[in-house]
Amino acid sequence: MVQTPSNPDVVVVGAGFAGLYMLHRLRDAGFTAMAFERATGVGGTWYWNRYPGARCDVESMQYSYGFDEAMQQEWHWSERFAGQPEILRYANWVADRLDLRRDIRFETSVTSAEWDEAACLWTVRTDRGDKLRVRYLVMATGCLSAARLPEIEGIADFRGNTYHTGQWPHEPVDFTGQRVAVIGTGSSGIQAIPVIAEQAAQLTVFQRTPNFSIPTHNQPMDTEYENLWKSDYSGRRERARGMRTGILHDLNDKGALEVEEAERRAEYERRWERGGTAFMVAFNDLVTNAAANDTAAEFVRAKISATVRDPQLAELLAPKDHPIGTKRICADSGYYETFNRPNVALVDLRATPIQRIVPEGVLLSDETLRPVDSIIYATGFDAMTGALTAINPRGVGGLPLTEVWAEGPKTYLGLCTVGFPNMFIITGPGSPSVLTNMIVSIEQHVDWIVDCMAWMRRHGAVRLEAEATAQERWMEHNNEVARRTLYPRAGSWYMGANVQGKPRVFMPYIGGVAAYRQACDNAAKDSYSGFLLQMDRAAAQ
Ligand code: FAD
Ligand code: NAP
Repeated sequence: MVQTPSNPDVVVVGAGFAGLYMLHRLRDAGFTAMAFERATGVGGTWYWNRYPGARCDVESMQYSYGFDEAMQQEWHWSERFAGQPEILRYANWVADRLDLRRDIRFETSVTSAEWDEAACLWTVRTDRGDKLRVRYLVMATGCLSAARLPEIEGIADFRGNTYHTGQWPHEPVDFTGQRVAVIGTGSSGIQAIPVIAEQAAQLTVFQRTPNFSIPTHNQPMDTEYENLWKSDYSGRRERARGMRTGILHDLNDKGALEVEEAERRAEYERRWERGGTAFMVAFNDLVTNAAANDTAAEFVRAKISATVRDPQLAELLAPKDHPIGTKRICADSGYYETFNRPNVALVDLRATPIQRIVPEGVLLSDETLRPVDSIIYATGFDAMTGALTAINPRGVGGLPLTEVWAEGPKTYLGLCTVGFPNMFIITGPGSPSVLTNMIVSIEQHVDWIVDCMAWMRRHGAVRLEAEATAQERWMEHNNEVARRTLYPRAGSWYMGANVQGKPRVFMPYIGGVAAYRQACDNAAKDSYSGFLLQMDRAAAQ
């Protein structure tokens, strides 16, 4: 029988990298906390996304916590870009090392949260019947944790095996001898396709929109490189925090059109050979100037056509409907090369859409049937808002979040929303989050939130809520900086475009990690300007 935990100060929802660090910091600051996690273990993204080929696209030396010098010195990454099993091992190592599991309730979903204005407390309920009354609610629910199946008829009719990359089984899946369909060619599909192609008898890739992908040229960790990082890990982390993306990249401060064509090509070539997403910072205007962007897009299209032997196939794989980088740039290991294999076929869904899934496989609009044994949906997530609206907390006056965000998410600094006092979102919409090295953004949010709670405790504040005007101004600023870029030109999940009926607003903050950190720090230094505070002097400690 599961016992309801006694009421702690804080409920944390989720035990990915955000929830884990949150628990650690809260404990250190003397708060009691309980985390609820729907999975059987820690790791979030890296617990769920076990599909073949899953790995990070931020270098491992950077895609890890930077808050503890001893820990970052001790952990060793085996590859330049670590694979999912290793990242999951790392999350487990952190949880054990910091003894976090005793405050995490696994296999438990938070199903509702309701604000009690009179008591200044949240009532949080779980699917196991827990009911907790807490001062603070922290949503560490993840930006990419609500996996979504596409709106295709007949999915349940399929007789074979069905998988979603974001909810992959724990036991190994063997596709040997099978006819496999992959629907979706975003980052997940692009990572999975080359690995599955090596196993399956026949792989059919169903592509609606081609994406730009840069090779990772992944390799075992170079000891010299690791030692170089570790020789001044904290200094490098600090410099990364000052970058726009929270990643210490080899930035170029020149515009793409400021240099001669030969120099431009050489720069792209150098970065293509080095591998990874630093390709997108080859010049400083690739996401702001359409003509500059075209030069990078054209370079990648030429690479695709040089790699894929069948010119028609190469043409279909070459993205043309969005500027490069305005949909999350993908990072691959042999993606385009995979289409030279005799057992791999591409179906262009723009020309022939899927009519429906039938028991035998995928039926196209021209009545062609593609019979398969397994279907893999690499169709992504209800990003940034999906996990939050699934809980649908009710704030002041019982207003549900879905109603308040009906026209798109609105937050102050991505951390708080008007009408939801004492509720904090880690890497919420309106913060740099998914445009950055997420662990850097997570650490910054957690530090800010815990410092805020400690400040409230010191000053006897029992209630903190974003001010309407501050939120409005922040949202205007968000939209304005997004408009200065090419990002809104793409029908991306950043814009909510992948979910039918979701409002089209650019959700993450694109002003950069450093500027954003400054805005958060300024609010804190100014006794939490932009927030309404309610004091209860007797509660001051
Ligand atoms: P998550 O890891 O998503 O954890 C949230 C947790 O909350 C989940 O475990 C979920 O089960 C739980 N949860 C949600 N709702 C509830 C509820 N109601 N009740 C109980 N539990 C709940 N970012 C990078 O910076 N670099 C990368 O290379 C990179 N690669 C990625 C690869 C993939 C395949 C994906 C999907 C994402 C990737 N990301 C990457 C983004 C990644 O999500 C973040 O880097 C980071 O892991 C997010 O951590 P988190 O704790 O905020 O969220
Ligand atoms: P995604 O980028 O949203 O891609 C989903 C794919 O499914 C797209 O190709 C989409 O086509 C297709 N799709 C959706 N609905 C469809 C339908 N009804 N019919 C046919 N195709 C359909 O999702 P993802 O690949 O899981 O990646 C999500 C994010 O997770 C990434 O952008 C990244 O931030 C993160 N991630 C990172 C890595 C990494 O390299 N570290 C790996 C995986 C994921 P359209 O484009 O036409 O909608």
